[in-house]
Amino acid sequence: MKLEKPNEKSVDSKTCCACKEVKVLTEFYQYKSGVNKGYYRHWCKKCANEYNKKNNERFNQRIIKWRELHKEELLKKVRQYYKIHRQERLEYNRKYHIEHKDKIREKDKNKYIKNREQIREYGKRYRKEHKDIIKKYKENNKERFIHLYAARRARKNNAEGSHTLNEWLLLKKQYNYTCPCCGRKEPEIKLTKDHIIPLVKGGSDYINNIQPLCKNCNSSKYTQIKRFINSLEVNNG
Ligand SMILES: [Zn+2]
Ligand SMILES: [Zn+2]
Repeated sequence: MKLEKPNEKSVDSKTCCACKEVKVLTEFYQYKSGVNKGYYRHWCKKCANEYNKKNNERFNQRIIKWRELHKEELLKKVRQYYKIHRQERLEYNRKYHIEHKDKIREKDKNKYIKNREQIREYGKRYRKEHKDIIKKYKENNKERFIHLYAARRARKNNAEGSHTLNEWLLLKKQYNYTCPCCGRKEPEIKLTKDHIIPLVKGGSDYINNIQPLCKNCNSSKYTQIKRFINSLEVNNG
């Protein structure tokens, strides 16, 4: 079989070996490498594409079948890989999130705005269908929910700063779970977060503006600015 060179003026068409049609050279792919580099292929683009598509399908089917057969093995391998590289991946994810913080936030926001109705609808349905699970989860994670609710309220009040749940738990520990105002201790009372400088007076939501007070003491303090002394701290020096 004679191969045609590209841009050879004498030849501007050839017959496809597959469909036997005579087509212009631009309807044929060229060899990209090897000794035939630059020459036109025997099959026209249409026939080649069809052949590739069919072949790919067959190939994909075989892969799917193979994967199905070796499912357990593969899963084990994947799990093992994730286990070995866990630390690396976590580190990578953390770095990525920090570096692309604004971009990710922007993307999430746009995604939310675009699908707002759908997301709300889904949330409603999910909450309705999983009422009991959610109730149980809330009961088991009460502290976290109270924390998140308070954080949201602080944000709504345009308070400066924020603190983590762990910071709050540590603070309670530093006060030996005791209300510094009345001296009663958990679980007899429930410690609540008191903003030393209240949010309404421009206080921040940083942990250093927070003291644990029992509900009674917290509500009787109201919006006064008053820092109670942590007796433990005094004792420690
Ligand atoms: Zn053809
Ligand atoms: Zn108290």
